[in-house]
Amino acid sequence: MADCIFCKIASGEIQAKIVKRTPEAVAFHDLLPQAPVHVLIIPTTHLLAMRDVARGPGGDATLGRLMLFAAEVATELGLDPGGYRIVTNTGADGGQSVFHMHLHLLGGRRMGWPPG
Ligand code: 5GP
Ligand code: ZN
Repeated sequence: MADCIFCKIASGEIQAKIVKRTPEAVAFHDLLPQAPVHVLIIPTTHLLAMRDVARGPGGDATLGRLMLFAAEVATELGLDPGGYRIVTNTGADGGQSVFHMHLHLLGGRRMGWPPG
């Protein structure tokens, strides 16, 4: 999608600190990290948000693979012993600000609950 910042990161048009990449997904460090480890995981295909993945064809496989990819990244970044959080913000109430579906992988500190 032409004006999507995360599509541009996936294609390499915009620089990001890439952690891991497959043909289907890219993991890269968040520009404004909210934890010692804050990595974003995106599908390389433009999908607006979680609700669109859920509605679309093949959503179960897409989401399953994306979550497993996030877990692999967490392992590779050494987060397994301490644990981590994976979240996806959807729409205005979810606090989404970039409308290309993504997972946040957060770790390296104790997370609070409930989130703000
Ligand atoms: P959302 O608020 O949509 O759940 O999350 C969007 C995230 O993308 C935010 O944590 C924000 O810091 C991050 N972000 C926005 N623009 C860029 C960018 O150009 N590069 C990187 N690496 N992260 C970005
Ligand atoms: Zn996009």
